[in-house]
Amino acid sequence: MAGDAYEELRRLFEGEEARDYLGEPVTQAEHMLQAAALAVRDGAPDSLVAAALLHDVGHFHGVVTGAELMAGTDNRHSDTGADWLARWFGPAVCEPVRLHVAAKRYLCAVEPGYFARLSAASRFTLAVQGGPMTPDEAARFAGLQFAAAAVRLRRWDERAKDPSAVVPPFQSYREMLARLMSD
Ligand code: FE
Repeated sequence: MAGDAYEELRRLFEGEEARDYLGEPVTQAEHMLQAAALAVRDGAPDSLVAAALLHDVGHFHGVVTGAELMAGTDNRHSDTGADWLARWFGPAVCEPVRLHVAAKRYLCAVEPGYFARLSAASRFTLAVQGGPMTPDEAARFAGLQFAAAAVRLRRWDERAKDPSAVVPPFQSYREMLARLMSD
């Protein structure tokens, strides 16, 4: 069971959609591998490393694709990704994935200068995804159980767009993923 799931995820990373750029200088696969490597470097727990590694799988699985998001339709990829991953993983993996778009809207509302550091593509999608949170929305978000984890993930997400970065391959996470799936 865990072996099949691992194979499905590995195929995803090697598939055609993983080679899409979605407006960034790195492919989707490179982007997610870089996010995971940043999480490891930051000393994140395995569940959050896995969340970083898999945070954008919703671009692959939504009814509306990542390409359509870049054309101006919100694909709700954080929800579709989290729901898809919930077949195998618990909330410590899935909920930061679910909240990673909200975390961008949150950070843009509460942290001066955050918006200015976003990539052009991320600024564009922010508008499609609802723009910065209102103070009420931000307060509600901050009270969620996985808000802090989602904010950490978001910061790696923003930085995981370096065309010259060299990071470990998907295969290096095999044992960690298997452990998390059996928890
Ligand atoms: Fe991302």
